[in-house]
Amino acid sequence: MLSPCALCKAECCRNHLITITSFDVLRLYEDGYRVQDFAQFAPCRILNYDNNMVLEFHDSGMAEDRILALKSNPCHFLENGRCSIHKIAPSVCKAYPRNSSGKMMGKLCPGIPRLLHGMMGTEIRGGYANEIAAYRGIVAEWNGQRGKMRDCMPFLLERAEGERKKF
Ligand code: SF4
Ligand code: SF4
Repeated sequence: MLSPCALCKAECCRNHLITITSFDVLRLYEDGYRVQDFAQFAPCRILNYDNNMVLEFHDSGMAEDRILALKSNPCHFLENGRCSIHKIAPSVCKAYPRNSSGKMMGKLCPGIPRLLHGMMGTEIRGGYANEIAAYRGIVAEWNGQRGKMRDCMPFLLERAEGERKKF
């Protein structure tokens, strides 16, 4: 069956800051992608991020808030208007335009694709809600350490690998 997204010019992939978890980074890293090429700690300039996913960095005197994201606007993995990593795309992308609870989001979906998405289910990766819950715990642990930015990604990946065994 034709995906509603085939009727769209990848509006979400071009225009959103794609916030992710360390489980997404780990999957891509294990598939051979270099983390520094696709991931970033983005400044928290978007309005509706999850506060429990905000990372604090203490490189200077004041804590700096950042959020783990793909290199976005447009997404690093968007090639010729299509996702180049479809099978291992971040869970947020698999679920979109729904959130991890299955609630319809997708303000960027144009009319007909949005209507079709509303009628159809979306490919939500089993365990996505678990990943979000575990990632919030990992973020809280990191923030308790008052660490520096350079140390954060190794920490996130190590914890994600450990937590994943529990799913
Ligand atoms: S990873 Fe793929 S689906 Fe997700 S935003 Fe990037 S191009 Fe779009
Ligand atoms: S999820 Fe919505 S905005 Fe994204 S490609 Fe599909 S129809 Fe377009």
